[in-house]
Amino acid sequence: MSTVAAISTPNAIGGISVIRISGPDSFCICDKVFRAYNGKKASEMEGYTCAYGEISENGEKLDDVVLTVFRAPKSYTGEDVAEISCHGGMYITRQILRLVTASGAELAGAGEFTKRAFLNGKMSLTQAEAVMDVISSNSRSELRYAVALKDGAMFRRISSVREKLLKVLGDLAAWADYPEEEDIPFVEPQKLDADLEDIRAELSGLSSTYDYGKIIKEGINTVIVGRPNVGKSTLMNCLSGYERSIVTNIAGTTRDVVEEYVKVGELTIRLSDTAGIRSTDDCIEQKGVEIAYGKIKEADLILAVFDSSEELSDDDKKIIDSLSEKNAIALLNKSDKERKADTGYLEAHFKYVIEISAKHSDGIEGLEQCLEKMFINEEIDAQGGIIANERQKLCLEMSLSSVNNAISALRAGESLDAVTVLIDESLAGLLRLTGENVADSVVNEVFSRFCVGK
Ligand code: GDP
Ligand code: MG
Repeated sequence: MSTVAAISTPNAIGGISVIRISGPDSFCICDKVFRAYNGKKASEMEGYTCAYGEISENGEKLDDVVLTVFRAPKSYTGEDVAEISCHGGMYITRQILRLVTASGAELAGAGEFTKRAFLNGKMSLTQAEAVMDVISSNSRSELRYAVALKDGAMFRRISSVREKLLKVLGDLAAWADYPEEEDIPFVEPQKLDADLEDIRAELSGLSSTYDYGKIIKEGINTVIVGRPNVGKSTLMNCLSGYERSIVTNIAGTTRDVVEEYVKVGELTIRLSDTAGIRSTDDCIEQKGVEIAYGKIKEADLILAVFDSSEELSDDDKKIIDSLSEKNAIALLNKSDKERKADTGYLEAHFKYVIEISAKHSDGIEGLEQCLEKMFINEEIDAQGGIIANERQKLCLEMSLSSVNNAISALRAGESLDAVTVLIDESLAGLLRLTGENVADSVVNEVFSRFCVGK
Protein backbone atom coordinates (compact mmCIF):
# COMPACT_ATOMS: atom_id res chain seq x y z
CA MET A 1 0.00 0.00 0.00
CA SER A 2 1.33 3.45 -0.88
CA THR A 3 1.63 6.34 1.56
CA VAL A 4 -0.72 9.20 0.77
CA ALA A 5 -1.07 12.76 2.01
CA ALA A 6 -3.59 15.57 1.73
CA ILE A 7 -4.72 18.74 3.43
CA SER A 8 -7.59 17.61 5.64
CA THR A 9 -8.87 21.04 6.65
CA PRO A 10 -10.83 23.38 4.34
CA ASN A 11 -9.04 25.08 1.51
CA ALA A 12 -9.22 28.43 3.28
CA ILE A 13 -7.40 30.59 5.81
CA GLY A 14 -7.90 29.56 9.44
CA GLY A 15 -6.19 29.27 12.80
CA ILE A 16 -4.62 25.93 11.96
CA SER A 17 -4.50 23.54 9.03
CA VAL A 18 -3.94 19.82 9.18
CA ILE A 19 -1.92 17.80 6.69
CA ARG A 20 -2.71 14.14 7.07
CA ILE A 21 -0.34 11.37 5.98
CA SER A 22 -1.34 7.70 5.97
CA GLY A 23 0.53 4.56 4.99
CA PRO A 24 3.63 2.52 5.86
CA ASP A 25 6.12 5.35 5.17
CA SER A 26 4.26 8.05 7.14
CA PHE A 27 6.78 8.30 9.98
CA CYS A 28 9.85 7.99 7.71
CA ILE A 29 8.54 10.91 5.69
CA CYS A 30 8.02 12.91 8.90
CA ASP A 31 11.59 12.17 9.97
CA LYS A 32 12.76 13.85 6.76
CA VAL A 33 10.73 17.05 7.09
CA PHE A 34 10.06 17.48 10.82
CA ARG A 35 12.41 18.11 13.73
CA ALA A 36 10.90 17.90 17.22
CA TYR A 37 12.22 20.36 19.81
CA ASN A 38 12.57 17.51 22.30
CA GLY A 39 14.94 15.80 19.87
CA LYS A 40 12.80 12.69 19.40
CA LYS A 41 12.23 11.35 15.91
CA ALA A 42 8.70 10.81 14.59
CA SER A 43 9.51 7.17 13.94
CA GLU A 44 10.32 6.75 17.64
CA MET A 45 7.14 8.35 18.94
CA GLU A 46 4.40 6.24 20.45
CA GLY A 47 0.86 6.17 19.10
CA TYR A 48 -1.52 8.88 20.36
CA THR A 49 1.32 11.26 21.22
CA CYS A 50 2.19 14.72 19.92
CA ALA A 51 5.42 16.61 19.49
CA TYR A 52 6.04 20.30 19.01
CA GLY A 53 8.71 21.12 16.47
CA GLU A 54 9.44 22.65 13.12
CA ILE A 55 9.14 21.82 9.47
CA SER A 56 12.12 22.87 7.42
CA GLU A 57 13.29 22.62 3.86
CA ASN A 58 17.01 22.62 3.04
CA GLY A 59 17.73 23.93 6.51
CA GLU A 60 15.25 26.78 6.21
CA LYS A 61 12.39 26.76 8.72
CA LEU A 62 8.93 26.90 7.15
CA ASP A 63 6.67 26.77 10.22
CA ASP A 64 6.23 25.68 13.84
CA VAL A 65 3.92 22.71 13.92
CA VAL A 66 2.48 20.01 16.14
CA LEU A 67 2.90 16.46 14.91
CA THR A 68 0.42 13.84 16.09
CA VAL A 69 1.25 10.18 15.67
CA PHE A 70 -1.27 7.34 15.35
CA ARG A 71 0.15 3.87 15.02
CA ALA A 72 -1.53 1.12 12.99
CA PRO A 73 -4.05 -0.28 13.53
CA LYS A 74 -5.22 2.36 16.02
CA SER A 75 -5.82 5.19 13.58
CA TYR A 76 -8.64 6.46 11.41
CA THR A 77 -7.42 4.52 8.37
CA GLY A 78 -6.02 1.56 10.29
CA GLU A 79 -2.55 2.43 8.92
CA ASP A 80 0.31 4.48 10.38
CA VAL A 81 -1.02 8.03 10.34
CA ALA A 82 0.76 11.32 11.01
CA GLU A 83 -1.04 14.62 11.25
CA ILE A 84 0.86 17.86 10.95
CA SER A 85 -1.02 20.81 12.44
CA CYS A 86 0.53 23.96 11.05
CA HIS A 87 -0.48 27.62 10.96
CA GLY A 88 -3.58 27.97 8.85
CA GLY A 89 -2.38 30.00 5.90
CA MET A 90 -3.07 28.55 2.48
CA TYR A 91 0.46 29.20 1.22
CA ILE A 92 2.22 27.60 4.17
CA THR A 93 -0.15 24.62 4.22
CA ARG A 94 0.47 23.92 0.55
CA GLN A 95 4.20 24.31 0.97
CA ILE A 96 4.22 21.66 3.69
CA LEU A 97 2.09 19.32 1.59
CA ARG A 98 4.47 19.84 -1.33
CA LEU A 99 7.42 19.01 0.91
CA VAL A 100 5.69 15.88 2.20
CA THR A 101 4.98 14.65 -1.33
CA ALA A 102 8.53 15.48 -2.41
CA SER A 103 9.66 13.26 0.47
CA GLY A 104 7.80 10.22 -0.78
CA ALA A 105 4.05 10.55 -0.21
CA GLU A 106 1.52 10.45 -3.04
CA LEU A 107 -1.36 12.88 -3.16
CA ALA A 108 -4.49 11.27 -1.70
CA GLY A 109 -7.54 10.95 -3.93
CA ALA A 110 -11.03 12.08 -2.90
CA GLY A 111 -12.21 10.09 0.10
CA GLU A 112 -8.99 8.09 0.13
CA PHE A 113 -8.51 8.08 3.92
CA THR A 114 -12.05 6.87 4.52
CA LYS A 115 -11.69 4.33 1.72
CA ARG A 116 -8.58 2.95 3.40
CA ALA A 117 -10.49 2.81 6.68
CA PHE A 118 -13.13 0.74 4.92
CA LEU A 119 -10.61 -1.52 3.18
CA ASN A 120 -8.81 -2.11 6.47
CA GLY A 121 -12.04 -3.16 8.13
CA LYS A 122 -12.29 -0.04 10.29
CA MET A 123 -15.85 0.67 9.20
CA SER A 124 -18.62 -0.69 7.01
CA LEU A 125 -19.64 0.91 3.76
CA THR A 126 -22.76 2.42 5.34
CA GLN A 127 -20.59 3.96 8.04
CA ALA A 128 -18.19 5.34 5.46
CA GLU A 129 -21.07 6.93 3.58
CA ALA A 130 -22.27 8.40 6.86
CA VAL A 131 -18.92 10.13 7.34
CA MET A 132 -19.72 12.11 4.23
CA ASP A 133 -23.20 12.84 5.54
CA VAL A 134 -21.79 14.12 8.83
CA ILE A 135 -19.53 16.48 6.90
CA SER A 136 -22.35 17.79 4.76
CA SER A 137 -25.07 18.00 7.43
CA ASN A 138 -26.94 21.29 7.41
CA SER A 139 -29.20 20.90 10.39
CA ARG A 140 -29.31 19.38 13.81
CA SER A 141 -31.70 16.62 12.81
CA GLU A 142 -29.67 15.78 9.72
CA LEU A 143 -26.53 15.56 11.83
CA ARG A 144 -28.26 13.35 14.40
CA TYR A 145 -29.20 10.79 11.73
CA ALA A 146 -25.79 10.91 10.11
CA VAL A 147 -24.07 10.32 13.44
CA ALA A 148 -26.40 7.43 14.21
CA LEU A 149 -25.47 5.90 10.89
CA LYS A 150 -21.79 6.46 11.38
CA ASP A 151 -21.95 4.78 14.74
CA GLY A 152 -23.15 1.73 12.93
CA ALA A 153 -26.86 1.75 13.77
CA MET A 154 -27.78 0.73 10.25
CA PHE A 155 -25.02 -1.85 10.20
CA ARG A 156 -26.31 -3.45 13.39
CA ARG A 157 -29.83 -3.50 12.06
CA ILE A 158 -28.74 -5.10 8.80
CA SER A 159 -26.53 -7.53 10.68
CA SER A 160 -29.49 -8.83 12.59
CA VAL A 161 -31.39 -9.55 9.35
CA ARG A 162 -28.25 -11.04 7.85
CA GLU A 163 -27.93 -13.40 10.83
CA LYS A 164 -31.51 -14.54 10.31
CA LEU A 165 -30.90 -15.18 6.63
CA LEU A 166 -27.73 -17.09 7.42
CA LYS A 167 -29.57 -19.19 9.97
CA VAL A 168 -32.25 -20.12 7.43
CA LEU A 169 -29.60 -20.85 4.79
CA GLY A 170 -27.65 -22.93 7.27
CA ASP A 171 -30.70 -25.05 8.07
CA LEU A 172 -31.44 -25.54 4.39
CA ALA A 173 -27.87 -26.42 3.47
CA ALA A 174 -27.49 -28.89 6.32
CA TRP A 175 -30.69 -30.56 5.42
CA ALA A 176 -29.89 -30.68 1.68
CA ASP A 177 -26.40 -32.09 2.29
CA TYR A 178 -27.23 -34.59 5.02
CA PRO A 179 -30.85 -35.60 4.54
CA GLU A 180 -30.23 -38.98 6.19
CA GLU A 181 -28.55 -37.62 9.31
CA GLU A 182 -30.79 -38.00 12.35
CA ASP A 183 -29.49 -34.90 14.18
CA ILE A 184 -30.39 -32.64 11.27
CA PRO A 185 -34.01 -31.61 11.53
CA PHE A 186 -36.29 -31.64 8.54
CA VAL A 187 -36.91 -28.09 7.28
CA GLU A 188 -40.58 -27.51 7.98
CA PRO A 189 -42.07 -25.43 5.15
CA GLN A 190 -44.32 -23.70 7.66
CA LYS A 191 -41.44 -22.74 9.91
CA LEU A 192 -39.43 -21.59 6.89
CA ASP A 193 -42.39 -19.53 5.71
CA ALA A 194 -42.66 -17.85 9.11
CA ASP A 195 -38.91 -17.11 9.21
CA LEU A 196 -39.01 -15.61 5.74
CA GLU A 197 -42.05 -13.49 6.64
CA ASP A 198 -40.15 -12.17 9.62
CA ILE A 199 -37.18 -11.27 7.40
CA ARG A 200 -39.48 -9.67 4.86
CA ALA A 201 -41.05 -7.49 7.57
CA GLU A 202 -37.65 -6.31 8.77
CA LEU A 203 -36.43 -5.55 5.27
CA SER A 204 -39.51 -3.59 4.36
CA GLY A 205 -39.31 -1.71 7.68
CA LEU A 206 -35.77 -0.70 6.77
CA SER A 207 -36.81 0.21 3.27
CA SER A 208 -39.54 2.53 4.54
CA THR A 209 -36.98 4.61 6.43
CA TYR A 210 -35.64 5.84 3.11
CA ASP A 211 -38.38 8.36 2.34
CA TYR A 212 -38.08 9.79 5.81
CA GLY A 213 -34.29 10.00 5.53
CA LYS A 214 -34.64 11.72 2.19
CA ILE A 215 -36.97 14.31 3.67
CA ILE A 216 -34.50 15.02 6.47
CA LYS A 217 -31.57 15.24 4.08
CA GLU A 218 -33.00 16.83 0.99
CA GLY A 219 -36.00 18.69 2.33
CA ILE A 220 -39.70 18.17 1.67
CA ASN A 221 -40.40 18.69 -2.00
CA THR A 222 -43.20 21.22 -1.64
CA VAL A 223 -45.24 22.95 -4.31
CA ILE A 224 -47.41 26.02 -3.83
CA VAL A 225 -50.45 25.89 -6.08
CA GLY A 226 -53.58 27.95 -6.51
CA ARG A 227 -55.31 30.09 -9.07
CA PRO A 228 -53.79 33.46 -9.96
CA ASN A 229 -53.74 36.22 -7.36
CA VAL A 230 -54.55 34.13 -4.30
CA GLY A 231 -51.12 35.05 -2.84
CA LYS A 232 -48.80 32.16 -3.77
CA SER A 233 -45.79 34.34 -4.50
CA THR A 234 -46.47 36.41 -1.38
CA LEU A 235 -46.46 33.17 0.65
CA MET A 236 -43.20 32.09 -0.95
CA ASN A 237 -41.64 35.42 -0.05
CA CYS A 238 -43.05 35.33 3.44
CA LEU A 239 -41.60 31.85 4.04
CA SER A 240 -38.24 32.56 2.49
CA GLY A 241 -37.93 35.91 4.20
CA TYR A 242 -37.16 38.05 1.20
CA GLU A 243 -38.51 39.00 -2.22
CA ARG A 244 -37.88 35.96 -4.35
CA SER A 245 -41.00 35.88 -6.49
CA ILE A 246 -42.50 38.81 -8.30
CA VAL A 247 -45.69 39.87 -6.53
CA THR A 248 -48.25 41.86 -8.49
CA ASN A 249 -51.97 42.10 -8.61
CA ILE A 250 -51.93 41.26 -12.32
CA ALA A 251 -53.08 37.68 -12.75
CA GLY A 252 -50.51 35.44 -14.45
CA THR A 253 -47.28 37.17 -13.32
CA THR A 254 -45.45 34.02 -12.22
CA ARG A 255 -45.12 32.00 -15.40
CA ASP A 256 -42.39 29.57 -14.63
CA VAL A 257 -41.38 27.88 -11.41
CA VAL A 258 -39.37 29.62 -8.70
CA GLU A 259 -37.56 27.38 -6.20
CA GLU A 260 -36.17 28.01 -2.74
CA TYR A 261 -34.94 26.06 0.31
CA VAL A 262 -36.73 27.24 3.43
CA LYS A 263 -36.33 26.14 7.05
CA VAL A 264 -39.61 25.73 8.88
CA GLY A 265 -38.80 24.74 12.47
CA GLU A 266 -36.71 21.56 12.38
CA LEU A 267 -37.71 20.79 8.81
CA THR A 268 -36.33 21.95 5.51
CA ILE A 269 -38.78 22.44 2.69
CA ARG A 270 -37.81 22.72 -0.92
CA LEU A 271 -40.41 25.18 -2.03
CA SER A 272 -41.57 25.78 -5.60
CA ASP A 273 -43.82 28.66 -6.47
CA THR A 274 -45.80 27.95 -9.61
CA ALA A 275 -47.87 29.75 -12.15
CA GLY A 276 -51.47 30.28 -11.11
CA ILE A 277 -53.65 27.49 -12.34
CA ARG A 278 -56.58 28.66 -14.42
CA SER A 279 -58.11 28.07 -17.80
CA THR A 280 -56.30 30.42 -20.16
CA ASP A 281 -55.77 31.14 -23.87
CA ASP A 282 -52.33 32.68 -23.39
CA CYS A 283 -49.99 29.96 -24.64
CA ILE A 284 -47.02 30.94 -22.45
CA GLU A 285 -49.22 31.04 -19.38
CA GLN A 286 -50.75 27.72 -20.44
CA LYS A 287 -47.23 26.22 -20.46
CA GLY A 288 -46.74 27.43 -16.88
CA VAL A 289 -50.00 25.79 -15.87
CA GLU A 290 -48.82 22.50 -17.40
CA ILE A 291 -45.54 22.72 -15.49
CA ALA A 292 -47.50 23.37 -12.30
CA TYR A 293 -49.52 20.18 -12.82
CA GLY A 294 -46.28 18.27 -13.47
CA LYS A 295 -44.82 19.58 -10.22
CA ILE A 296 -47.90 18.46 -8.32
CA LYS A 297 -47.29 14.92 -9.48
CA GLU A 298 -43.74 14.75 -8.06
CA ALA A 299 -44.34 16.67 -4.85
CA ASP A 300 -44.14 15.28 -1.29
CA LEU A 301 -46.43 18.10 -0.16
CA ILE A 302 -48.79 20.59 -1.78
CA LEU A 303 -49.62 23.92 -0.24
CA ALA A 304 -52.92 24.79 -1.91
CA VAL A 305 -53.61 28.50 -1.52
CA PHE A 306 -57.11 30.02 -1.63
CA ASP A 307 -58.27 33.61 -1.36
CA SER A 308 -60.58 33.72 1.66
CA SER A 309 -61.95 37.11 0.62
CA GLU A 310 -63.57 35.62 -2.49
CA GLU A 311 -65.97 32.77 -3.06
CA LEU A 312 -64.35 29.57 -4.27
CA SER A 313 -64.35 29.62 -8.08
CA ASP A 314 -64.56 26.83 -10.64
CA ASP A 315 -60.78 27.07 -11.06
CA ASP A 316 -60.38 26.58 -7.29
CA LYS A 317 -62.62 23.53 -7.38
CA LYS A 318 -60.74 22.07 -10.32
CA ILE A 319 -57.50 22.41 -8.35
CA ILE A 320 -59.12 20.80 -5.31
CA ASP A 321 -60.19 17.83 -7.44
CA SER A 322 -56.70 17.38 -8.84
CA LEU A 323 -55.31 17.08 -5.29
CA SER A 324 -57.61 14.38 -3.97
CA GLU A 325 -54.83 11.76 -3.89
CA LYS A 326 -52.11 14.08 -2.65
CA ASN A 327 -50.58 15.07 0.65
CA ALA A 328 -51.99 18.59 0.72
CA ILE A 329 -52.64 21.45 3.13
CA ALA A 330 -55.27 24.07 2.30
CA LEU A 331 -54.10 27.59 3.15
CA LEU A 332 -56.91 30.07 3.43
CA ASN A 333 -55.01 33.24 2.66
CA LYS A 334 -55.84 36.93 3.19
CA SER A 335 -57.27 36.27 6.65
CA ASP A 336 -56.95 40.03 7.24
CA LYS A 337 -59.87 40.57 4.84
CA GLU A 338 -63.53 39.77 5.26
CA ARG A 339 -64.23 36.06 4.74
CA LYS A 340 -66.33 35.03 1.75
CA ALA A 341 -64.91 31.58 0.89
CA ASP A 342 -66.84 28.47 1.90
CA THR A 343 -64.58 26.96 4.58
CA GLY A 344 -66.86 23.93 4.95
CA TYR A 345 -66.15 22.94 1.37
CA LEU A 346 -62.40 23.06 2.00
CA GLU A 347 -62.69 21.15 5.26
CA ALA A 348 -64.56 18.41 3.45
CA HIS A 349 -61.71 18.04 0.95
CA PHE A 350 -58.56 18.61 3.03
CA LYS A 351 -57.34 17.06 6.23
CA TYR A 352 -55.69 20.34 7.21
CA VAL A 353 -57.13 23.82 6.59
CA ILE A 354 -55.09 26.70 7.98
CA GLU A 355 -55.92 30.39 7.94
CA ILE A 356 -53.04 32.68 7.12
CA SER A 357 -52.21 36.11 5.90
CA ALA A 358 -49.12 35.76 3.76
CA LYS A 359 -48.85 39.51 3.38
CA HIS A 360 -48.76 40.07 7.14
CA SER A 361 -46.99 36.80 8.04
CA ASP A 362 -49.93 35.75 10.21
CA GLY A 363 -50.75 32.12 10.95
CA ILE A 364 -47.38 30.75 9.85
CA GLU A 365 -46.87 29.00 13.23
CA GLY A 366 -50.03 27.01 12.47
CA LEU A 367 -48.43 25.84 9.24
CA GLU A 368 -45.22 24.98 11.08
CA GLN A 369 -47.06 22.84 13.63
CA CYS A 370 -48.99 21.12 10.89
CA LEU A 371 -45.78 20.27 9.01
CA GLU A 372 -44.22 18.83 12.13
CA LYS A 373 -47.31 16.72 12.70
CA MET A 374 -47.15 15.41 9.14
CA PHE A 375 -43.43 14.88 8.69
CA ILE A 376 -41.69 14.38 12.01
CA ASN A 377 -42.33 10.72 12.31
CA GLU A 378 -42.10 9.55 15.89
CA GLU A 379 -42.53 5.97 14.78
CA ILE A 380 -39.37 5.84 12.75
CA ASP A 381 -36.52 5.39 15.16
CA ALA A 382 -33.79 7.33 13.45
CA GLN A 383 -31.20 6.30 15.99
CA GLY A 384 -31.93 2.75 14.85
CA GLY A 385 -30.59 3.53 11.40
CA ILE A 386 -32.00 5.06 8.29
CA ILE A 387 -31.36 4.19 4.68
CA ALA A 388 -29.21 7.10 3.61
CA ASN A 389 -28.98 7.02 -0.15
CA GLU A 390 -30.11 5.58 -3.45
CA ARG A 391 -27.38 2.92 -3.48
CA GLN A 392 -28.39 1.55 -0.09
CA LYS A 393 -32.05 1.65 -1.07
CA LEU A 394 -31.36 -0.29 -4.27
CA CYS A 395 -29.46 -3.03 -2.45
CA LEU A 396 -32.21 -3.29 0.11
CA GLU A 397 -34.89 -3.54 -2.56
CA MET A 398 -32.99 -6.31 -4.33
CA SER A 399 -32.74 -8.18 -1.09
CA LEU A 400 -36.42 -7.64 -0.35
CA SER A 401 -37.57 -8.72 -3.78
CA SER A 402 -35.53 -11.94 -3.53
CA VAL A 403 -37.19 -12.75 -0.20
CA ASN A 404 -40.57 -12.06 -1.77
CA ASN A 405 -39.71 -14.43 -4.59
CA ALA A 406 -38.49 -17.04 -2.12
CA ILE A 407 -41.79 -16.87 -0.23
CA SER A 408 -43.78 -17.19 -3.47
CA ALA A 409 -41.66 -20.13 -4.62
CA LEU A 410 -42.10 -21.85 -1.28
CA ARG A 411 -45.87 -21.36 -1.37
CA ALA A 412 -46.03 -22.57 -4.97
CA GLY A 413 -44.50 -25.83 -3.76
CA GLU A 414 -41.18 -25.43 -5.57
CA SER A 415 -38.14 -27.39 -4.42
CA LEU A 416 -36.20 -26.22 -1.39
CA ASP A 417 -33.15 -25.94 -3.68
CA ALA A 418 -34.93 -23.32 -5.76
CA VAL A 419 -35.96 -21.45 -2.60
CA THR A 420 -32.39 -21.62 -1.32
CA VAL A 421 -31.05 -19.91 -4.45
CA LEU A 422 -33.45 -17.02 -3.89
CA ILE A 423 -32.52 -16.67 -0.23
CA ASP A 424 -28.85 -16.63 -1.30
CA GLU A 425 -29.64 -13.73 -3.59
CA SER A 426 -31.31 -11.89 -0.78
CA LEU A 427 -28.24 -12.28 1.39
CA ALA A 428 -26.03 -11.04 -1.46
CA GLY A 429 -28.10 -7.84 -1.65
CA LEU A 430 -27.59 -7.18 2.05
CA LEU A 431 -23.87 -7.83 1.90
CA ARG A 432 -23.56 -5.44 -0.97
CA LEU A 433 -25.32 -2.84 1.16
CA THR A 434 -22.74 -2.96 3.94
CA GLY A 435 -19.89 -3.53 1.51
CA GLU A 436 -18.92 -6.90 2.88
CA ASN A 437 -18.91 -8.37 -0.58
CA VAL A 438 -18.81 -5.58 -2.96
CA ALA A 439 -17.27 -5.06 -6.37
CA ASP A 440 -14.38 -2.57 -6.53
CA SER A 441 -16.36 -0.42 -8.90
CA VAL A 442 -19.03 0.17 -6.28
CA VAL A 443 -16.41 0.99 -3.65
CA ASN A 444 -14.76 3.50 -5.97
CA GLU A 445 -18.13 5.01 -6.78
CA VAL A 446 -18.89 5.55 -3.11
CA PHE A 447 -15.55 7.15 -2.27
CA SER A 448 -15.34 9.35 -5.33
CA ARG A 449 -18.04 11.50 -3.75
CA PHE A 450 -15.81 12.41 -0.80
CA CYS A 451 -13.65 15.46 -0.65
CA VAL A 452 -9.86 15.19 -0.75
CA GLY A 453 -8.39 14.98 2.74
CA LYS A 454 -11.22 12.91 4.20
P1 GDP B 1 -50.13 34.83 -6.90
O1 GDP B 1 -50.63 35.19 -8.25
O2 GDP B 1 -50.95 33.74 -6.31
O3 GDP B 1 -48.66 34.54 -6.87
O4 GDP B 1 -50.42 36.11 -5.96
P2 GDP B 1 -49.43 37.22 -5.43
O5 GDP B 1 -48.60 36.71 -4.35
O6 GDP B 1 -48.75 37.83 -6.61
O7 GDP B 1 -50.46 38.22 -4.75
C1 GDP B 1 -51.58 38.76 -5.45
C2 GDP B 1 -52.09 39.94 -4.67
O8 GDP B 1 -52.65 39.54 -3.41
C3 GDP B 1 -51.01 40.96 -4.34
O9 GDP B 1 -51.54 42.25 -4.52
C4 GDP B 1 -50.72 40.70 -2.87
O10 GDP B 1 -50.24 41.84 -2.21
C5 GDP B 1 -52.09 40.31 -2.36
N1 GDP B 1 -52.00 39.47 -1.15
C6 GDP B 1 -51.27 38.35 -0.97
N2 GDP B 1 -51.43 37.87 0.28
C7 GDP B 1 -52.28 38.72 0.92
C8 GDP B 1 -52.85 38.76 2.25
O11 GDP B 1 -52.56 37.92 3.12
N3 GDP B 1 -53.71 39.76 2.52
C9 GDP B 1 -54.03 40.70 1.61
N4 GDP B 1 -54.89 41.64 1.97
N5 GDP B 1 -53.53 40.70 0.36
C10 GDP B 1 -52.66 39.73 0.01
MG1 MG C 1 -47.29 34.40 -8.42
